[in-house]
Amino acid sequence: MRKRIIAGNWKMYKTAEEAEKFAEEVKGKLPVSDRVEAIVCAPALYLTKLVELTEGSALNIGAQTMHSEKEGAFTGEVSPAMLKSVGVNYVVLGHSERREYYNETDQTVNEKVHAAFEYGLTPIVCVGETLEERESHTTVEKVSHQVKEAFKEVDGTNVKNAVIAYEPIWAIGTGKTATADDANEVCKAVRETVGELYGEEVADAVRIQYGGSVNPGNVEELLSKEHIDGALVGGASLEPASFIKLIEAGANE
Ligand code: PGA
Repeated sequence: MRKRIIAGNWKMYKTAEEAEKFAEEVKGKLPVSDRVEAIVCAPALYLTKLVELTEGSALNIGAQTMHSEKEGAFTGEVSPAMLKSVGVNYVVLGHSERREYYNETDQTVNEKVHAAFEYGLTPIVCVGETLEERESHTTVEKVSHQVKEAFKEVDGTNVKNAVIAYEPIWAIGTGKTATADDANEVCKAVRETVGELYGEEVADAVRIQYGGSVNPGNVEELLSKEHIDGALVGGASLEPASFIKLIEAGANE
């Protein structure tokens, strides 16, 4: 059985004090469970401190983006080697906000996926359709294409350990969620795409999250679906009580 993976994406929220308070409050309260992995993807500035504060707890710390190069003249950027050096093990890549506002393309996502594996980071690769694409019934086409591009020339043994987050763009931060059945259907298509590229064993192993207005009220139904192995959560991951509830739901059978 695939271990669930629930990740909070804090985006550009919280001061240092608020971030530390969250970690202190949450770390001892998460269920210790083989069923679920709990992660918070925080602003780069707080990663070192959060890794320190959560050491030995069930709360893992991830980054929200990174550069694909180890080092270089890239003002303002953070490299995979830097993330690894502070003890971060996860990184979100290709979030739709990065694609929309920061010129992230299928190609740069692919470069970053390669870099993540090179440095032993688990990439959480985001894919998803716009409202227009959903309405014109091209969701599966779009998402499959993004998956193929993101994992181009990546070794199957690495893909097994990857996480793919299916996030319909129209559902992010809008309070609109895809129905659990619709979300499952696209997650299934994502798995099938991975299967076409890498075979059944890799497709069975890869973990697929749903993201887009997930909250403690809808997470259980989403997680009950065959192809949904977790969630990538923005707004509802910011408050300790809500985040803990999401992880508790993930720990349930
Ligand atoms: P949301 O964000 O849960 O606030 O919709 C999800 C995301 O952007 O990953």
